[in-house]
Amino acid sequence: MEKVKEIYEGKAKKVFETPDPDLYIQEFKDDATAFDATKKGTIKGKGVVNNKISAAVFMLLEAKGVKTHFVKLLSDREMLVKKLEIIPVEVTIRNIVAGGMAKSLGLEEGIELKEPVLEYHYKSDKLHDPLFNEYHIRALGLATGDEMDAIRDYSFRVNEILKEFFLAKGLLLVDFKLEFGRYKREMILLGDEISPDTCRLWDKETRRKMDKDRFRRDLGGIEETYREVLKRVEG
Ligand code: 5GP
Repeated sequence: MEKVKEIYEGKAKKVFETPDPDLYIQEFKDDATAFDATKKGTIKGKGVVNNKISAAVFMLLEAKGVKTHFVKLLSDREMLVKKLEIIPVEVTIRNIVAGGMAKSLGLEEGIELKEPVLEYHYKSDKLHDPLFNEYHIRALGLATGDEMDAIRDYSFRVNEILKEFFLAKGLLLVDFKLEFGRYKREMILLGDEISPDTCRLWDKETRRKMDKDRFRRDLGGIEETYREVLKRVEG
């Protein structure tokens, strides 16, 4: 399958049309941004790592019955995906307090939550992805009640599957972000990517941060850490 036309360039990926109107190619870049793109940089090799980790995770989820946009890996940086009409909602699931939740509720990072927390954020850099809830989403017509039931159900299942998967690799799944879309105007599929850019992963023994927080917080060792996560995922 070849690229026909670039239709979108985001912060970390480019998306291309293909000869098949229902399929896109998603290309992963080394560019990194944080804090609504006010911080910019490059993480050498990140695109390759995130493409491969996302592919491995999507294949695992498909095998466990979660429907995703993933079709197949095409190259080091490219995957073939189903064309989605993206729902502008970022779903966050948290198992351990960190990042935005620590800040907004004035909590220490590292507190284990008694049960997973699910949050919805309106996908808008301009507005800094504000927190909102299912009532807003339905009332604004961003998704139907049935679609939100599917999204919530998928999100918790993804959490259970990935918590176990990463733990077996010596990594704690602290939190992560998912995006969903409609395929052929009917079916909800998990889209975007699942990688150290979109998940917080801490080493189980040392609690070392093994994700994009190394870039966000200038912790160093970014490239090696991304490579290490890929090694563990593939190991
Ligand atoms: P927080 O709300 O604490 O900033 O983020 C929670 C989790 O979702 C983290 O794992 C973070 O990486 C991911 N996340 C939330 N929003 C975004 C986003 O706009 N881009 C990316 N790459 N990850 C996000």
